[in-house]
Amino acid sequence: MLETGIWLKGDWHMHSRHSTDSTHHGIARIIASARGAGLDYLAITDHDVHVAGAVADHTWADPDFRSDQLTLFYGAELTAARGHANILSARPYDHQRVFDARDARDWDIRALKTELGVHFSANHPDTRNIYSFSWDLADSIEIWNTSQWARNVTGLRIWDDVLLSGRIMPARGGSDAHHGVPENGDMDRPESVEALGNAPGTPTTWVFAQDRSPEAILAALEAGRTSVSANPYAPRAELIVTNRDGTLFMGDIAPASGGSVTVRVTLSGGRIEEARYRVRIICNRKEVALLWTDPVTGAAEATLSLEPGIRAYLRAEIEGPQTPFPPAPYCTSQSGTMVALTGPVYFGYDPAF
Ligand SMILES: [Zn+2]
Ligand SMILES: [Zn+2]
Repeated sequence: MLETGIWLKGDWHMHSRHSTDSTHHGIARIIASARGAGLDYLAITDHDVHVAGAVADHTWADPDFRSDQLTLFYGAELTAARGHANILSARPYDHQRVFDARDARDWDIRALKTELGVHFSANHPDTRNIYSFSWDLADSIEIWNTSQWARNVTGLRIWDDVLLSGRIMPARGGSDAHHGVPENGDMDRPESVEALGNAPGTPTTWVFAQDRSPEAILAALEAGRTSVSANPYAPRAELIVTNRDGTLFMGDIAPASGGSVTVRVTLSGGRIEEARYRVRIICNRKEVALLWTDPVTGAAEATLSLEPGIRAYLRAEIEGPQTPFPPAPYCTSQSGTMVALTGPVYFGYDPAF
């Protein structure tokens, strides 16, 4: 059941000047653009390999790493031979030990993760840096990396496979923004043009948190109370499933009692006026309903039948026209028709898996 809380939006993945492949992206500038986009929280996740693991002496020690309005996370992108993972924490932790263990056996990394009390999130699982750590290490998965939706299609299939295996896997997005528009306006490096299509919030991860503290926001991610939208001005998607056992929200786990379930998807804020958005309901990797939102309410609803005793998850994908986001004007074309994805509702899953 849904406890009381607030919807907060933010970005779990980006790079500042402390990553050597970043340009014109100082921390003060990142925080200013995140504030300008209305974000509530931010994780600056520089490549640990660029500072030999000493993130605490670089990103977090930067005098600009502070904000009165944004909730900031302590984090870094573990940049290893077996792929990339974001290490996220509400409090400072010893990242050097994570970096030093990057090639260790996964069970040793898992023990270290537990000891440090950090969140381990699988990044862009199918790109050039394929995620090939164990899924038993991952506390969440990046289902949307950069504004370029097309690059994420295979990653989405990986997420479905992980869910189908009985693993509960919360979803998040990450802009992976590396660049700012050069201060003098000259696109002096070829990568600078990326800033026009990718900025903090492209995509945006919404979390339903009890409050604005970093602990509460991370707990909301870990509870799967999330949906991902193309940009900060795009609508926020919500999936609510009702059956004879009650009302289920994204991240909830219910018994596999089967029977009739009502699936409701709503889009709040940021909708294109009079547009009808296409909603795909996915159950165990298959599309089980194709709906259109009502242009006035922004909602779509369907009734489905689930098999009793069969483990299942339901999630939603929403496609339609993109809401413009002027700070990164190319992001809308790069996102194509994908507007938002919701986290799953689970039936018959073992929370202690
Ligand atoms: Zn990466
Ligand atoms: Zn990155």
